[in-house]
Amino acid sequence: MEGALDADVVVVGGGYTGMWTAWHLLDSEPGIRVLLLDGGICGHGPSGRNGGFCESLWFSAGAIRERFGDKPARALLDASSQAVTAIGDWCRDNEVDAWFDQSGYLCVSTGPAYDDVGLGSAEAAAALGSPDAVRDLSAAEVHERVDSPAFGRGVFVPDFATLQPARLALGLRRRLLERGAEVFEHSRVRRLRVEPGAGAVVAETDSGRVRAGAAVLAVGGAARSLRPLRSRLTVASSHIVLTEPVPDVLEEIGWTGGECITDGRTLVHYFRTTRDGRIAFGWGGGRLAYGGRLNGRIEVDGETAAQAHRHLLRIFPALDGRAITHAWGGPIDVSPSHIPQIGTLPDSRVHFAFGYTGNGVGPTHLAGRALASLALDRRDRYTRLPIVGSDAGSWVPPEPLAWAGGSVVRRALLRREEAFDRHEQPGLVTRALCALPAAIGIHVGR
Ligand SMILES: Cc1cc2nc3c(=O)[nH]c(=O)nc-3n(C[C@H](O)[C@H](O)[C@H](O)COP(=O)(O)OP(=O)(O)OC[C@H]3O[C@@H](n4cnc5c(N)ncnc54)[C@H](O)[C@@H]3O)c2cc1C
Repeated sequence: MEGALDADVVVVGGGYTGMWTAWHLLDSEPGIRVLLLDGGICGHGPSGRNGGFCESLWFSAGAIRERFGDKPARALLDASSQAVTAIGDWCRDNEVDAWFDQSGYLCVSTGPAYDDVGLGSAEAAAALGSPDAVRDLSAAEVHERVDSPAFGRGVFVPDFATLQPARLALGLRRRLLERGAEVFEHSRVRRLRVEPGAGAVVAETDSGRVRAGAAVLAVGGAARSLRPLRSRLTVASSHIVLTEPVPDVLEEIGWTGGECITDGRTLVHYFRTTRDGRIAFGWGGGRLAYGGRLNGRIEVDGETAAQAHRHLLRIFPALDGRAITHAWGGPIDVSPSHIPQIGTLPDSRVHFAFGYTGNGVGPTHLAGRALASLALDRRDRYTRLPIVGSDAGSWVPPEPLAWAGGSVVRRALLRREEAFDRHEQPGLVTRALCALPAAIGIHVGR
């Protein structure tokens, strides 16, 4: 982007949040001038490289109910469920084949320490009048769907889907361009300034600037490096390994229904099948990023990927000897409450959304709707959702405290989970460190 341009709305960041916002803006206001700036290429960040679990928020029903109360919680949960369906409808209507498949989600216990997984979500769903949104499954019912020696009981959430993340991100980018959004890549925004008086916002890159009536910040984990948002998130990392096509193994273990699965660990394992018969296996146990700044180790951390592969073999021993063809990682924008944050910077028309905590594929569609309404100065069912304008839930300490403290807690969580795998109890210090985040109001784990 070069020179001086004008727009009605400037969107900073071309992941799902920014691109859905641009899409909803074009939908709501024909003729609107939407300009989107990305520091790299749209969809090349987490939005194009995630595990493709397209989630509603029903698995977080317990935490959401506790935080917002029954009626607002129900409105949010229903809207999150509609967002998943809307993504599938969008793909169909816009002829983007993102391998969308709404076959539900299983959260399973992988040992006695995890035997209560999902019970809180199932109870909350029932209390909110929607018992089918999160269903309890016995160990036998779990094994009927997927036969792993590691699995015990679990819960099933039917409205989750899977998709191929890069196909969705690049398809959305293509359709936005065709619809008239002005998209500039390799155009990192270095400064955002609110003009006194008029209230216009100016986004500056190294070689140009855009003056707009409103701005939307959709920069994912990079929000951690922006002063007004810094204390509202931390940045962790997640890694995925992808097997060669293994249709024979899938047949053998009976995993042919397309469900996506996680275990109940804090440093979660998440896994799914793909349309070409592979297993994509992710692990949320990667390192933390210092101050939100990412480095090569987060993009591809060989050691973490090798660990994820070992975990995969423990869950599916039938994969022994089968090749891993791809491995990659990426940053995770973590909210202290684990619930996404949508809001407006004080005294400005600068709106933001981040903090999906590794579960943004579905919720970014919803956030995009709320951000589009905020940017158009409209109040509607999306801007009234309880996550809009809510606080972070707790305060994230500054660096180096956040990184150092977070890294110590991460290592303690690793030790605790390794002890659970050996059917042992972790030591006292490890237990105390694992309890630390909750003591200061920070939710860790699913
Ligand atoms: C390995 C991995 C697996 C995951 N698995 C899942 C999953 O299975 N299900 C799920 O729901 N979620 C998952 N997630 C999380 C999910 O990918 C994110 O929640 C979601 O993509 C967030 O989208 P976003 O648009 O907010 O941010 P991003 O995708 O991070 O996009 C932000 C964009 O902003 C741009 N940007 C940053 N700073 C600037 C700047 N100053 N100027 C201009 N542009 C800028 C970046 O280049 C980037 O394109 C996973 C994430 C990772 C890394």
